[in-house]
Amino acid sequence: MIPFSPPRIDQKIVDEVVDTLHSGWITTGPKTKRFENLLTAYGGHKVTLCVSSASAGLELMLRWYGVKEGDEVIVPAYTYAATANVVVHCGAKVVFVDADDDFNISVEAIEKAITPRTKVIIPVDIAGWPCDYDAINALVRRPEIQEHFCPLTKEQHLLNRILVLSDAAHSIGGQYHEKKVGNLTDITVYSFHAVKNLTTAEGGAVCLNLPEPFDHDAIYRELNAKSLHGQTKDALAKTQIGGWRYDIIEPGYKYNMTDIQASIGLVEIARYDSDMLVRRKQIFDKYAGAFAKYDWAQIPEYENDEKKSSFHVFLLRINGINEQQRDQVIQEIFNREVAVNVHFVPLPMMTYYCNEGYDILDFPVAYDNFSREISLPVYYDLTDEMVDTVVNAVVESVLKVVYYTSK
Ligand SMILES: *Cc1c(COP(=O)(O)O)cnc(C)c1O
Repeated sequence: MIPFSPPRIDQKIVDEVVDTLHSGWITTGPKTKRFENLLTAYGGHKVTLCVSSASAGLELMLRWYGVKEGDEVIVPAYTYAATANVVVHCGAKVVFVDADDDFNISVEAIEKAITPRTKVIIPVDIAGWPCDYDAINALVRRPEIQEHFCPLTKEQHLLNRILVLSDAAHSIGGQYHEKKVGNLTDITVYSFHAVKNLTTAEGGAVCLNLPEPFDHDAIYRELNAKSLHGQTKDALAKTQIGGWRYDIIEPGYKYNMTDIQASIGLVEIARYDSDMLVRRKQIFDKYAGAFAKYDWAQIPEYENDEKKSSFHVFLLRINGINEQQRDQVIQEIFNREVAVNVHFVPLPMMTYYCNEGYDILDFPVAYDNFSREISLPVYYDLTDEMVDTVVNAVVESVLKVVYYTSK
């Protein structure tokens, strides 16, 4: 069986983790801080805070911006549940909007969904393909939109417009106009979950890139405390002589990253551009080349003059099939010992969101993208021979199902 997305664990990673285990310091400490600095240098944003997951990072930033009951947050219908669930946790209303043909949130649909209650937009770079950030950033600064913004908290007054909080769970290393994901908008959150491009087993990072006059060092200190129960000193600082006394300045969260996690990240970030992204792009090119000769195959865009993907997963669509046929194709592919996936079942189709009154009929592009989509495996250890096996399994399966059902 060709697995869908195993992590890359080699001796270098094992050695770095073992080094941490032997160091006497396994929770948040020097390696987490070093990883944060490397991520800041990598993304080109201003400051990074590592956290326990992207979900934790997104929720932390919604709380930081003061999002609460009565507020609205715009979220794509086509994403993983984390993007919307964190909004529900804050008591705010999720406002889903439809996708474009490239799977990402439709900027036109965002514009129609904005109300005076809108506090945040959470675009998602699906499969690593950056959203149209020039258009989104321009939209929230448009005078007639900005003047309807109703700031309630200190942070909302300072920004005085809708916050753009990018869910970059898939897209570390993606580029837009030569700039990396991380400094494309106000705040960006990476995920380092086991299946993501750059993993720390579980983990995430908040990339701060706010405009003047926000003080990034002050916000880092505030978020650092907020991610550790509002404690004024972290565990490492408390080990210093005379450092035992601390205060709790607010009822914060427990969202910190450990040095064990950071040690995996330190190895990965050092070779991410030169090694990981190179291999991922080769696999994308190989899939694109192999499927180009079939008119039933719709190949995703992953590189153009403006944007470059992080090559997270290959979102193949099959032209002219429906959801049931797509499911049959997936079954046939599994029968050929290849694991594939679907990214994503749109959230308005999920029981919780259905029960909340959302209806997939309101998101026709998201549904169409979903109904014809099959995610193909992309990972460092996927060899050229394995890519050929995946391609053959897909081709045979599509031909079998389409031939069978059209007879
Ligand atoms: C994986 C994922 C997340 C959540 O990441 P965690 O680090 O597991 O919390 C959020 N958004 C999207 C689009 C994802 O795919």
